[in-house]
This record gives sequence, C-alpha cells and structure tokens, in this order.
Amino acid sequence: MQDKEIYISKLQEQDPDKIADLYAEANSCTENVCGNKVFLRGLVEFSNVCEKDCYYCGVRRSRFQGIKRYTMSAEEIIQCALFAHKEKYGSIVLQSGEVSSKPRIDFVARIIEKIIESTNGELRVVLSIGELPREAYAVLKRAGVSRYLLRIETSNEQLYKQLHPANHSFQRRMQALKDLKDLGYQVGTGVMIGLPGQTLEDLVEDLFFFRDIDIDMIGMGPYLPDKNTPLGQRQQDYNDEQRLTLSFKMVALARLMLRDVNIAATTAMGTLHPRGKEIALTAGANVIMPQITPKQYHHNYRIYDNKVNIALKSMHLDKINKQIAWGEYGDPKHFVKRTT
Ligand code: SAH
Repeated sequence: MQDKEIYISKLQEQDPDKIADLYAEANSCTENVCGNKVFLRGLVEFSNVCEKDCYYCGVRRSRFQGIKRYTMSAEEIIQCALFAHKEKYGSIVLQSGEVSSKPRIDFVARIIEKIIESTNGELRVVLSIGELPREAYAVLKRAGVSRYLLRIETSNEQLYKQLHPANHSFQRRMQALKDLKDLGYQVGTGVMIGLPGQTLEDLVEDLFFFRDIDIDMIGMGPYLPDKNTPLGQRQQDYNDEQRLTLSFKMVALARLMLRDVNIAATTAMGTLHPRGKEIALTAGANVIMPQITPKQYHHNYRIYDNKVNIALKSMHLDKINKQIAWGEYGDPKHFVKRTT
C-alpha cells in the first residue's frame, strides 16, 4: 500500500481497539521525543474586529447580529501578560481578527515591547493575528515576538476557495507562511477538520503539507458549524462525533509523521467533548492554551457558537500521566533542530 492509502485507512478505522492502539503509539512517540510535559500558552483574545469575511468564522466582517466589536486596551492586554508571567505560563498568545493597518501593527508592536520589558523576557510572546504584509511581520519580529500561528485552514486550494470570498487568496496565505519562516519565527499552522466538501484524502494531504513546509507547530480542530455564517448554514458532510474522532486521529498521525513538532490540544476539541483536550494529550498533543481573556469579552469572541473554554484547574493531567511544564518556554524541538 502507498503511504497515502495507509493514512486514509487509519482515518477510516472504526474498530475502537485499533483506534486506541493508534493513540497509544502516538503517545509513546510524544513521550520519547518530548517527554510527558505539557506546555502552557495563556490565550488572550484581544479583539474581534476583522477585515476578512471567511465563510466559516463567527467574527467575520459582515456578521452584525449577536456580537459587539471590541479591542482591549494596551493596559488590559499587558495586565493579562503579567498574570501569565506570575502564574508561570511560559508563553502568551495574542489572538485577534485581522486588521492590517499601520496604526494597528504599531499598537501591537508597542504592547509586545512592553510585555517583554516588564516580564524580563521570561515570557515568550506568540501572535495569531492573521495574514499581514511581510513588513508588518518584520516589525513584530523586531518587537520581540517569537512564534506565529497562521492556519492554512485546508491545503486543498479548491476547497480553500469555497471557504473564502474571492478576494482571499490561498497563494497569499502560503506566501505569509513563507515570510514568517524567512523572518525567523517559530511557525505554526493547521487546518479545520470535517469541513463540508473535505475528503479524507484532503486531510492526508494536509499532513503531507505540514511535513513539506517543515512546520514547527500544529493547531488543528474540528470545524464547528455556526448558524450565523454562510458555511454553517450549508448542508454538512460530517457530524460532531465524526469531526472529533477525525481530529484526534489527525493529531496522532501528525505526531507519528512529524515527531518533534509541538501539537496543541485545541479549544474546539474541548467544545465537542468535556475531556476532549485530555484525549488529544494522550494521542500526540503536548500543548494547551488556557484562555486568559478577561471575562467581559468572552461572549463576543465567538469564532463559533457555544465555544467552551476549559479552565486549567478543571483538567486532570495527573490522571493521564502528564505534567505541566510551569515556567518553561516550550519552544518546539523541531525549530531548535532546524536552526542550529
Ligand atoms: N484572525 C486570525 C485568528 C483566527 S481564529 C487568523 O486568521 O489567523 C483562529 C482559528 O479559528 C482559525 O484559523 C480557524 O481555523 C478557527 N476557526 C474559525 N472559525 C471556526 C469554526 N467555525 N469552527 C472551528 N474552527 C474555526
């Protein structure tokens, strides 16, 4: 059998014992390569203002009902960073909708400088603020950002076109990933799993894509249809259970294929299953991103409906033989290897 067919058959597997074996194999690979530590990244969703109109996303520009647009102040964002530092999270992720104007980039750059200064450089700063011109990525890198998360969403260009309006370009997104890598960032990408029109072959191609672009970090999760979006109103090809199981299998296969990357157990997994993140952590994931956004903004950062944010203290990592890596940066081993 070709590699591709083997991967497809793993994604098709229905036998619970064989699925458990796949997760166990991925878990021992994680433990051999990365140990049993789970790295923390405090997630601050600092603005839901967005210039883009992605058909799947609940904070797309043309969504008007049910949410209020907000941007946290510099002071509020810095307070979150100080909290993450005090709690020994090791890294902080600043995430938002996409705004590419120069004042916005300068605003973010100043905040980053301030965060690094006031935490003595003991906190890695990670950004997830979308597709920006190369020059903006350069400015943010100089300000002190270490990592950047930008999902390709799907590596199938035709499917990508069906998920976005005509002025959103797959090639542009690819270029953004290349720019980030050239500029020396630790780069993360990922896809949504169980999209309408997405095949198992597409998902296997996503794994090959991660390998071919030599990515350092992966964040993937089930696609969650939101009725306030065009894609959420379409006929769906997968149900929640299928999307969730496919997501765990994708984590396991990504670990076995890529070995030394960091892989996140994502919020979307925790939304579909109360123990979804723990399951992912025993199937190849080694990173969690607890939300530390101030409460008053939670309701409006609705990239999909019924988003569930699992508090760190309600996760029982000792029961799955994992330990939180308090105070560690948790840089991806893959990055360390490819740059030394
Ligand atoms: N504006 C930033 C951050 C986007 S939010 C950017 O473009 O990178 C982070 C991720 O949430 C997206 O990349 C997408 O993969 C995911 N997401 C958006 N809508 C979703 C949905 N309905 N279901 C599941 N994941 C979704």
